[in-house]
Amino acid sequence: MTYKNFTIETDADGIALVTWDMPDKSMNVFTVEVMDEIEKIVDQTVADAAIKGVVFTSGKKTFSGGADLTMIKGMFSMLEEEKAKDPAGAVKKLFDAAGRMTWLWRKIETCGKPWVAAINGTCMGGAFELSLACHGRVASNSKSVKLALPEVKVGIFPGAGGTQRVSRLANTQDALQMMTTGSSLTASRAKAMNLVHQVVEPDQLIPAAKQMIKDGLKAVAPWDEKGFKAPGGGIWTPAAAQLWPAAPAILRRETAGNYPAALAILKCVYEGLQVPFDTGLKIEQRYFTQIVQTTEAFSMIRSLFVSMQELGKGARRPAGVGKTELKKVGVVGAGFMGASIAYVTAAAGIPVVLIDRDMEAAGKGKTVSEGLVAGTVSKGRMTKDEGEALLSLITPTDDYGSLKDADLVIEAVFEDRDVKKAVIEKVEAVLPEGAIFASNTSTLPITGLAKNSKRPADFIGIHFFSPVEKMMLTEVILGKETGDKALAVALDYVAAIRKTPIVVNDTRGFFVNRCVLRYMSESYNMLIEGVPPVMIENAAKFAGMPVGPLSLNDEVAIDLSLKILKATVADLGEKAIDPRHMELVSRMVEKEGRFGRKNGKGFYEYPAKPAKKFLWPGLKDFYPQKKAEDVDMKTLQERFLATIALEAARTVEEGIVIDPREADVGSILGFGFAPYTGGALSYIDGMGVKTFVELCERLAKDYGAHFKPTPLLIDMAAKGETFYGRFDPYGEEKKAA
Ligand code: NAD
Repeated sequence: MTYKNFTIETDADGIALVTWDMPDKSMNVFTVEVMDEIEKIVDQTVADAAIKGVVFTSGKKTFSGGADLTMIKGMFSMLEEEKAKDPAGAVKKLFDAAGRMTWLWRKIETCGKPWVAAINGTCMGGAFELSLACHGRVASNSKSVKLALPEVKVGIFPGAGGTQRVSRLANTQDALQMMTTGSSLTASRAKAMNLVHQVVEPDQLIPAAKQMIKDGLKAVAPWDEKGFKAPGGGIWTPAAAQLWPAAPAILRRETAGNYPAALAILKCVYEGLQVPFDTGLKIEQRYFTQIVQTTEAFSMIRSLFVSMQELGKGARRPAGVGKTELKKVGVVGAGFMGASIAYVTAAAGIPVVLIDRDMEAAGKGKTVSEGLVAGTVSKGRMTKDEGEALLSLITPTDDYGSLKDADLVIEAVFEDRDVKKAVIEKVEAVLPEGAIFASNTSTLPITGLAKNSKRPADFIGIHFFSPVEKMMLTEVILGKETGDKALAVALDYVAAIRKTPIVVNDTRGFFVNRCVLRYMSESYNMLIEGVPPVMIENAAKFAGMPVGPLSLNDEVAIDLSLKILKATVADLGEKAIDPRHMELVSRMVEKEGRFGRKNGKGFYEYPAKPAKKFLWPGLKDFYPQKKAEDVDMKTLQERFLATIALEAARTVEEGIVIDPREADVGSILGFGFAPYTGGALSYIDGMGVKTFVELCERLAKDYGAHFKPTPLLIDMAAKGETFYGRFDPYGEEKKAA
């Protein structure tokens, strides 16, 4: 029998090597067709008496990334359509769909012939669950092997037996930790956790897997043997009595109760370990069906899985412009940002010239990459040779002539119009025809900067976030005259450095900073009202923000906030800001000398390590303090999320952001907007625009006009619309179909 996605070669020992290698994909993923073929392979290998056992591996560099986008999208659209027709029947269909993988993997496990997974690279989600259903698991001793059940990161959980098998193989604490955080395991860590049997050199992977079968590997899972006991003895042991009461509390501390899928993992493991294995699988299937129907799962999958991949693959890339393979990139300004931009560019294998005012400054910029490389090598994530190869791609210089064959130049010089103007002119004097100039400015509108350019169509903004090597987002800013070629090259570059782009029209603060400023300014309002600072920080965390607003303000620097407030007054007049904010921030900076983390004094105090930072007690003397019992934590949480979501809605209303996917992904990757909501616009869609408008009206009455719902929101509420309905990102595709 032949298959589209698999090949089978049976050797003289009767061992069938099943190699998964999807012809039209760079990575193996689960589709309905793949599942159907796996089912046929199980039947075929069971039926063929000459086959003694199966080794299951991948023909690609990675093993598999798990489920496919289209399968996930299909499941949600099926649910939506069916629910409209027959709500109860829809849930039953969902339950059955959720069980397809579960029972197929169980079929492998109980087929009567030994299966061994030979894991040669990244093995995620359903693919790891398939491996766990095999009787043996061998992994390559390679840093490219990463094993994970990362479903919780997109609002669901391992629903194909993962919760039941991991908790029957590894000790409970490790199992819970791994699944509730979705973290990756190296091959050796997986072996230490008892999740793989052997770790071998890559060239020994298939022979070692076959050897397990030749050595008489039993085709019976441990839990199908009589007398099986989970590691540590299961639920009714003294150790479990210590662990289980604490587990939900620890989870609550980490997630503030915002992630139903994480709690469902605890339930699956706790309940599953008390029943026979097949019943455990059913328990998991039931919880999975329940979790998939939550707003959190729907919104997180949409933004963090579907949209992120679509944007990464160039959803906003103009059609009809050929792909640019960047042969050389110039970075002008080798300071804090430029030095790191050079690093991420070289890390993508692209040669970079790093220019500054003199050789010394340019060379200093390269030392940043040397430090980053040394750190990565010492952690074992890069070999010495790879590190040297990376560094050899960065050429520090003060000679603009070296840009004569660059495809793209990114400037990251001082945030000063005149300095930037001079640099634009110098670069354009040597830059070849058709090459693109990008500015990393964070505050200066691109359209204005492009006025200094002789070729504004080739001028664009590529706005990075700090720390550049860690932040996954970049904002690509279109000036009024920016052309399609510039956008295409910018997106090709962002894809090459493996970051996620959002494309934003020109405005003061672009998208991310506009939203972040709202977050911080709401914390100023709360301070002025006398809300105890610790309640402000905690409310933000309970709302799902990774960093409290005061802590964030310390990181970006309070003197920078003062600078921004002053610049806003200078450009837009006194009325553009709240004078009480200016008073608060200038008191912090000019009177108290508190600039933020950078001088060790901000809203927090920063004692010498290992002591932890703590809120500066003097802050309480600024305003008469409210009593804790007079402050409603829930309202504080609503204020933070609503003020950001309102700003995101304004950017859509103004035509700054035109695709809701970008506002959502940008808000999560840019400043960690409560990920369980799916992002700032999904937060609104999730509760319904009408409910959001009512919330805003209530907050406006109590906390000020900045909460007033905008005309767009009022209109959408009246019409019962959503952002994803009114600004449908797939509208064009649907029309074409
Ligand atoms: P920085 O002061 O650390 O670096 C600026 C560098 O530009 C310095 O090395 C300086 O020597 C060099 N430079 C100045 N004039 C030059 C010239 N004429 N020719 C060549 N080099 C010159 O500043 P930074 O924080 O890296 O910011 C750079 C740009 O990035 C600014 O536009 C800023 O708004 C933007 N930005 C900064 C951040 C951030 O977090 N710091 C984030 C996003 C964007």
